[in-house]
Amino acid sequence: MAEETIFSKIIRHEIPSDIVYQDDMVTAFRDISPKAKVHILIIPNKVIPSVNEIEEEDEKVIGHLFTVARKVAQMEGIAQDGYRLIFNCGKNGGQEVPHLHMHLLGGEQLRGFGF
Ligand code: AMP
Repeated sequence: MAEETIFSKIIRHEIPSDIVYQDDMVTAFRDISPKAKVHILIIPNKVIPSVNEIEEEDEKVIGHLFTVARKVAQMEGIAQDGYRLIFNCGKNGGQEVPHLHMHLLGGEQLRGFGF
C-alpha cells in the first residue's frame, strides 16, 4: 500500500479544505496556493503516488478524473473560455505531493509553460 499524504486527510474531511466535488472515486478541491483565478486539484481517493505508479486496474479512475474535470470546469463557469489540465510527475516534473493529482487551471488567459 502506498503511503498516505495530506491529501488523504482532505479526502476524509479530517483537515479543512474547500472541496468543490466528491464521489466514491475522486475528490476535487481548491489549491491552497492558486496559480490562476481558478485552480482546483482533482485526485483519486485511492493513493496512487504519481503517474509512474498507475496500474491497468486504475484506468477507470484515471478516466473519471477527466470527466470530473469537465464537470468542475462547467460548474466554475470556465468551460467555454478554456482551461489547462496538468499532471506533474516526480522531481523533474515539479511534483511536491506524492498523491496523483490533476491541476485544473483557468478563469483567465494562461501564459506559456516558460521552459
Ligand atoms: P504539485 O507541485 O504538482 O505536487 O502540486 C501540489 C499542489 O498541492 C500545489 O499546487 C500546492 O499548492 C497544493 N497543496 C498542498 N497542500 C495543500 C492543501 N492542504 N490544500 C490544498 N492544496 C494544497
